[in-house]
Amino acid sequence: MLDVAVIGAGMSGMYQIYRLREMGLNVRGFEAGSDVGGTWYWNRYPGARFDSESYSYGYSFSRELLQEWDWTEHFSPQPETLRYCNYVADKFDLRRHFQFNTRLAAARFNSDEHIWSLEFEDGGSGQCRLLVTAVGPLSAPVQPAIEGVETFAGEVHHTGLWPKQEVAIAGRRVGVIGTGATGVQVIQEVAKNAAHLTVFQRTPNWCAPLNNRPITAAEQRDIKASYERIFRMCRATANSFLHDADPRKALEVSAAERLELWEKLYGEPGFGIWLANFSDILVDEEANATISEFVAGKIRERVRDPATAAKLIPTNHGFGTRRVPMETGYYEVYNQANVDLVDLSETPIERITPRGVLTGAGEVDLDLLIFATGFDAVRGALDRIEIVGEQGVLLRDKWAQGPLTYLGLAVAGFPNLLTLVGPHNSATFCNIPRCIEQNVDWVTDAISYMREHGYQRIEATPAAEQEWTEHVFDAAQGLLLTQVRSWFMGLNSNLKDRDKPRLLVYAGGSPRYRERCDEVAQQGYAGFDLT
Ligand code: NAP
Repeated sequence: MLDVAVIGAGMSGMYQIYRLREMGLNVRGFEAGSDVGGTWYWNRYPGARFDSESYSYGYSFSRELLQEWDWTEHFSPQPETLRYCNYVADKFDLRRHFQFNTRLAAARFNSDEHIWSLEFEDGGSGQCRLLVTAVGPLSAPVQPAIEGVETFAGEVHHTGLWPKQEVAIAGRRVGVIGTGATGVQVIQEVAKNAAHLTVFQRTPNWCAPLNNRPITAAEQRDIKASYERIFRMCRATANSFLHDADPRKALEVSAAERLELWEKLYGEPGFGIWLANFSDILVDEEANATISEFVAGKIRERVRDPATAAKLIPTNHGFGTRRVPMETGYYEVYNQANVDLVDLSETPIERITPRGVLTGAGEVDLDLLIFATGFDAVRGALDRIEIVGEQGVLLRDKWAQGPLTYLGLAVAGFPNLLTLVGPHNSATFCNIPRCIEQNVDWVTDAISYMREHGYQRIEATPAAEQEWTEHVFDAAQGLLLTQVRSWFMGLNSNLKDRDKPRLLVYAGGSPRYRERCDEVAQQGYAGFDLT
């Protein structure tokens, strides 16, 4: 019998195993992939990289690790990040605590004994007192629900399930469906080598320059000397990035002042243009329209053909109300002779054929088709597991009308289950490792408290769950993102049961979230029944 089973060997699962092992518990991790890395293990598509400053993304728990590891670019590419995950696993000898190639199929709570029974897809089984899920918020890839998808005779890959062996791009006719943060990264990379690239765009997104560059030796020294300041700043900002909103309001300053800030942010690295912008742009439609027009102007400047530029400018949502894809030469791709943009709002996909994609504009012949069609976000990876709590209730049934959680970490009726980065957890809307460390530290402290007091069972009360769920909705009130279709709102056009908006993220900010979690702990885990 395990004291704790941890599901997933990504950034959360690795750190959770590290912390629980420190406590001397009998812990085991289970991971569907063949190795560590989570997101960075699965998303090997060309162009995948951080949108967070590399040095703000790595683990902060080990000074030695911080001093040893050299990030080579301000925004690290996926191969380097996967190497980092492997380095961490080796350095802290984490791999031996994980059972790889082992996907959890079901977890059933036994109320008499207060234990979870685990069933794995390979037929294996196990038991644990506490079940900690570290399954990731964007880890359940969704294939496009397009007729004929299985008939395509060429090579086809979803970005979130990219193969380990190299996929040839050079000299091939490539199609990409999807223009979210992933699609944008893959498109700008594939365009460099493909004989021809066709981008099938249903909804354009507001993209902004990443302004990435290599880290110089002097910067490396400075970064290593500044980690304390870097993490202090992350703790202070709303989403734990090195960017925080400008307190001024766009509508209260002059047009010249607006332009000055926007030009500066557009030319700076990372999410500043989204997160360090005027404080009203994400809540006030009029203010939002001003920044949207600024970014639209940039798109018009960068794309030579005005008709193509117009297609790339979003018309159904304002800047920043969906996750802003960060780009490096994305718009210039559409000036290349080997790239075509098919606007699916004008000519929708009719079906996928053995030869390629048939739209209202005709059939496009392809050798390689890439689906950058996103994920069943935040709850999808949990829903795919048969998680059965008290009285035979299935977690996904309990959440039929949307997630109900306490702190995004626990669910009433599901004792001894702790969900790292679960729905309504601030880690869903965060520079994620910063919030992961907070989640893991909190869960570790809670487990430690249980052991000190001889408790065998921890369960969120229905009242605490209701209060938190209401708070999550209150905290998002007034944000324009709640009126827009995106994964933040749990919408996915390819899944029938994801057709109604159901807020998945906690938008109240990580400092407020952290404070609340700390208070709960200080009050002896208020809102939890401990027995
Ligand atoms: P996404 O934002 O959900 O985008 C999916 C794209 O596929 C959308 O453009 C969507 O169009 C399109 N699509 C889906 N089904 C389609 C269909 N049947 N026909 C045509 N188009 C279809 O997914 P994502 O780009 O993978 O990004 C998800 C999240 O992952 C991001 O928001 C971000 O948080 C994270 N991410 C992070 C990084 C990073 O940190 N570097 C990189 C990549 C992704 P509609 O908009 O019309 O639905």
